[in-house]
Amino acid sequence: MSEQQQGTLYVISAPSGAGKTSLVAQMLERDPVLGVSISHTTRPMRSGEQDGVNYHFVGCEQFEAMIERDEFLEHADVFGNYYGTSQRWVADTLAQGRDVILEIDWQGAVQVRRLMPDCVGIFILPPSPEVLRQRLTGRGTDAAEVVERRLREAAEECRHAQEFDFLVVNDNFEVALADLLAIVRGQRLRVTAQEARHAGLLASLTARP
Ligand code: GDP
Ligand code: ADP
Ligand code: 5GP
Repeated sequence: MSEQQQGTLYVISAPSGAGKTSLVAQMLERDPVLGVSISHTTRPMRSGEQDGVNYHFVGCEQFEAMIERDEFLEHADVFGNYYGTSQRWVADTLAQGRDVILEIDWQGAVQVRRLMPDCVGIFILPPSPEVLRQRLTGRGTDAAEVVERRLREAAEECRHAQEFDFLVVNDNFEVALADLLAIVRGQRLRVTAQEARHAGLLASLTARP
């Protein structure tokens, strides 16, 4: 029996409001091999969010107990709340050959890059600071002071954009979505992935007559 090929890990970061959640949701609709990790967070649930769907919403004590038990691949304090990625879910899903997306902040991305250097980093930029403000305000999910804090911290997030492998500007939504899907498709066409997938074909084409 051939060994299952590991999936690819994608780390997607962006300043809050750039559109990563909307874009990732559409990536999942178009590509059944992709899965997104549902993070744990201590931030309050927004109206319209569901526990276990958008996040696993937990209290600080529970989060700190999970840190103690080493259950996180990475975790960080973002805008005054804890956010973290389950190490077990990511490892199990990659082992099944599925590709996994992490929607995490730059601090988490640093940790993941160190632990899993083969991951593919994508940073999403809004088309301008003004549009970022409009999107965060227009989303209507956060109190005014939360929006202001996120805007203040957007510059720090963007200062890390060049640490990623790909930069995608989310101006026109459909163009940004196509760019993201093109990155995934490109990764699947790399020789390292294709030679395993097409071992039989390569063997037949390279056999001596
Ligand atoms: P969420 O899906 O509940 O996280 O809410 P969002 O505010 O992120 O997105 C609301 C809906 O609008 C989602 O179905 C998105 O896919 C969609 N959406 C967001 N931005 C755009 C856009 O620029 N163009 C189009 N066509 N759809 C968008
Ligand atoms: P993030 O997950 O990065 O915080 P969201 O996916 O929640 O961002 O997007 C923030 C807001 O901007 C949402 O209201 C979303 O509908 C909107 N949005 C996302 N992409 C675009 C786009 N290309 N054009 C216009 N609005 C967008
Ligand atoms: P939001 O509260 O808008 O859902 O997310 C706020 C920020 O937290 C985003 O920048 C997002 O990338 C980051 N984030 C979400 N989940 C995680 C996670 O599991 N780990 C880390 N490090 N950051 C996360």
